Amino acid sequence: MDTLPQLFMPRARLQDLIDALAGAGFRCIGPTVRDGAIVFAPLKDAAQLPAGVSDVQEPGAYRLSRNASPRTFAWASGPQALKPLLFAPSEVLWRARRRPDGSIDFSSDVPQGPPLAVFGVRACDLAALAIQDQHFLHGAHGAAPDPFYGQRRDRLFLVAVNCSHPAATCFCASTGDGPRAVQGFDIVLDERDDGFLAQSGSDRGRDMLAGLALCAAMPDQVAEAQRQTERAEQAMTRRLPGRNLRDALFANLDHSRWDEVADRCLSCGNCTSVCPTCFCHSESEQPRIDGTESLHGREWDSCFTRGHSHIHGLTVRPDTRLRYRQWLTHKLGSWHDQFGRSGCVGCGRCIAWCPVGIDITEEANAICGRGP
Ligand code: SF4
Ligand code: SF4
Repeated sequence: MDTLPQLFMPRARLQDLIDALAGAGFRCIGPTVRDGAIVFAPLKDAAQLPAGVSDVQEPGAYRLSRNASPRTFAWASGPQALKPLLFAPSEVLWRARRRPDGSIDFSSDVPQGPPLAVFGVRACDLAALAIQDQHFLHGAHGAAPDPFYGQRRDRLFLVAVNCSHPAATCFCASTGDGPRAVQGFDIVLDERDDGFLAQSGSDRGRDMLAGLALCAAMPDQVAEAQRQTERAEQAMTRRLPGRNLRDALFANLDHSRWDEVADRCLSCGNCTSVCPTCFCHSESEQPRIDGTESLHGREWDSCFTRGHSHIHGLTVRPDTRLRYRQWLTHKLGSWHDQFGRSGCVGCGRCIAWCPVGIDITEEANAICGRGP
């Protein structure tokens, strides 16, 4: 891939990028404020982006406020990751219909539709996407790629933004997944008050930027962008006690901390819903009452539901202690055996969106016997 030099995109020209992608047939989505949170929504006009919005995130807390800044990406990840765009929370995988002669016709509901361009993707979510690609597209034991995920993944164009304002809950520097995006994007932006530095990460991204005929960025603009992400990295105070906690966690399966966290945990599954890497799901049949058709559905499941560990009449993890332990030891431990890395990219969502403020970094530090 030939790359362009880093380019300067004046703020008003962001609309040209949105228009160029729409003109190339992409449905564009980007961050917007809805119900007090920053979430993805259809994006036609750059004015829809959350200008002058900042966030405060703490264990069990997420708040937005307004300021006078022209910046549209000066906040940390909201509750939505890329996950729901590729791995739908609930969808029909196939349907079985009874033909008039009594035989059964099977058909698949693999999604169709225009390609999707997503604006505002962060480094942690690119890292999570790479993990989900490993699971859904390059599964273990020769498993076939998931056609539902694969269809959506093939049609994805990613406009990343390097993080300049991490939340107190963020710790991607500790997992090695941010705050600067280094791969997995088509275009990456560094935001400034007067615009953006833009760089391509794929041939498609290069062609899209070349079409905008932007000027090369000045060396001082490039240096300031670098300093901005260095400051973001230094601002993160949370960290895990190490990149690979497999042995430390499995040596502490009887640690008293599992009981303490279970006393607080509601087994609600919020943490697994917002986590960009969690992929557990359940499948079920939804037959019509007249017996003519049955839909085979898939929906997100969680380590924290009773049914998720129900095997042949036995619930293997009947209580919250065992469910939280399963989540943490898989996410930070046995994930290394499965995927060659931890399942945590340090986005901090599970901390902010846990209704009782349980903090994965605090628990891991306590259980692995190291101070926070
Ligand atoms: S475990 Fe928590 S911090 Fe880590 S990737 Fe999942 S939601 Fe983000
Ligand atoms: S850790 Fe928090 S978010 Fe996760 S299941 Fe327990 S109470 Fe819910």
